This record gives sequence, structure tokens and C-alpha cells, in this order.
Amino acid sequence: MGRKMKREEEFECPYCGWVPDAGMENIAWEHCPNCLSGLHDYDREENACGGELEPISIWAKSRSQGRIIQRCVICGELRTSPITRHDNPIKLMSLAAGPLGAPAFPVERMQELLDLMGGQGSMEGWNREQRE
Ligand SMILES: [Zn+2]
Ligand SMILES: [Zn+2]
Repeated sequence: MGRKMKREEEFECPYCGWVPDAGMENIAWEHCPNCLSGLHDYDREENACGGELEPISIWAKSRSQGRIIQRCVICGELRTSPITRHDNPIKLMSLAAGPLGAPAFPVERMQELLDLMGGQGSMEGWNREQRE
């Protein structure tokens, strides 16, 4: 009794246990839309990490171009992940409102963050014209 079907192709959040609704479109979940955490698979030097990417803030360039700023709990690397329409609005709002009892965003790493924002060519498939 109570046997659960296991469908391995489906996303299941390792942090909060969230799974997509049956009717949901099948997209590659870069982060969990419920807790907004992600998995830090590889760092920039391509070393395997496996840490939790914890959401720490929101970067909102404009209304339609929001990004979640995440920090790896193991190695501390910063990542950004585009906000999707599936994301938990309450969680997003609490992030945007600022940290509650959590350490403030590390201002000293702002440059690193700006580099991330500026150097997103490969992430987004944007093509920058390069002069040779
Ligand atoms: Zn989750
Ligand atoms: Zn990491």
C-alpha cells in the first residue's frame, strides 16, 4: 500500500521536495520555482561542486528581466538565474524586500556580480559583435 510511482525524468527539488504539476510544461528547471534554490554542478574552473545555490537576492534590470542571485553554500560562488513565471511570488518578494535575519548582500562582491551580468553571452545565447 502507498506505493509511489517514480518517474526519474521529472525534476524533484532536493531541498524542498517540490515537483512540477502534471500539466506543467516540461522545461529544464535551472532553479526550483518553489524555494528558488539550484544545484551548483560545476564552478567556473569546471570543478564539480554539488553545493546548494541559495537564493540571496533579486536583480531586477527591468520588470521583465529579473534574475535571482544565488550563492553556493559550499564554495561561495555567485550565480544568477532568470526568473520564470513559475517562480514562487512570495519567495521572490521576500528576497526583493531584503534579507530577514540573513547576512546582507556582500557589497564587496558587486564587481563580480556585474561581470556576471555583463558576460552573459554564453548563458543567453546573445551574440556580441566582436571586432577583429
Ligand atoms: Zn525547492
Ligand atoms: Zn559551489
